Amino acid sequence: MSAVRPRPVDDDLDTGGFFEAARRGELVVRVCDGCGAVLHMPRAYCHTCGSWQGHWQPVSGRGHVYSWTTAEHQVHPAFPVPDTIVLVQLDDVPARLVGYVPGAPDLTEGQPMEVWFEMLEDGVVVPQWRPI
Ligand SMILES: [Zn+2]
Repeated sequence: MSAVRPRPVDDDLDTGGFFEAARRGELVVRVCDGCGAVLHMPRAYCHTCGSWQGHWQPVSGRGHVYSWTTAEHQVHPAFPVPDTIVLVQLDDVPARLVGYVPGAPDLTEGQPMEVWFEMLEDGVVVPQWRPI
């Protein structure tokens, strides 16, 4: 029996638009209407200018490896090892997104990456990353 993978909250005020876009196969970031700051992790309130007004801005889904780590000791049954967690700097905007890359890929700093969309249980779609 395989373990149920933890799923993110995908319908709250802060992150709902991010996951709604992912279900359409689109990667977006939250941008403040008041000052233009990119608000990632997604959040409704801008800590730079105090605005609650923002919009979801589509981005290309391209980036490059900022950092990564490969887990070789299993800490959760839903994440078989080896399993690599990657931090991707987006090419379009100043934001870094986290994702999982199965196995222990041969990554290098600055390596180009592209997004793909993983369907989890209950219809939750999570943006993930793969080398290009
Ligand atoms: Zn702002």
